[in-house]
Amino acid sequence: MDAQAANQTANVRSCGSCTMCCKLIEAPELNKPAHVWCGNVKKGAGCSVHAQRPLSCAVFQCFWTFNPALSDEWRPDRARFIVSVENGGGLVITLDKGQPTAWRREPYHSQIRRWAELGVANRKPVLLANGDRMSVILPNDELDIGALRPGDQVELEHDGLRFHARVIPAAAA
Ligand code: SF4
Ligand code: SF4
Repeated sequence: MDAQAANQTANVRSCGSCTMCCKLIEAPELNKPAHVWCGNVKKGAGCSVHAQRPLSCAVFQCFWTFNPALSDEWRPDRARFIVSVENGGGLVITLDKGQPTAWRREPYHSQIRRWAELGVANRKPVLLANGDRMSVILPNDELDIGALRPGDQVELEHDGLRFHARVIPAAAA
């Protein structure tokens, strides 16, 4: 969300000219909903209120900034989606509403399906956020789970034939 913040804490990559999280990610302190550009962003340059940015901005780091295995094609302004670590350690792919199929392009799709295989094995499902609708990405399919509230967690169960998703409300997680 903030180029300098990511640079200071991740020690892998700076955000460069990317500002995608300033659009796709919610900033509650500013009443900025997800999928709306923040009024403080200087597109292609970063945050105009860096020193006073809210905590939610300061702590956000997308997966690309601290995963050196991901090529520059994964920088969110190029991929057109953000990968982040949430849901108790699982990955979340947050789509740009205008680019709902961006994650199905290569080199993204094959890698995301591999993460889905690991997510199933490790019981940390990979989630796909398309506006308010959430899905679980399975190795060969997607499972629609509707809307989630902040802090809700998702577990996968397999009945021998197919996967089922169970949402654990934040209060019970
Ligand atoms: S989406 Fe990632 S790379 Fe882009 S500005 Fe936010 S933290 Fe930086
Ligand atoms: S306050 Fe700055 S870092 Fe936070 S969303 Fe707005 S432009 Fe981005």
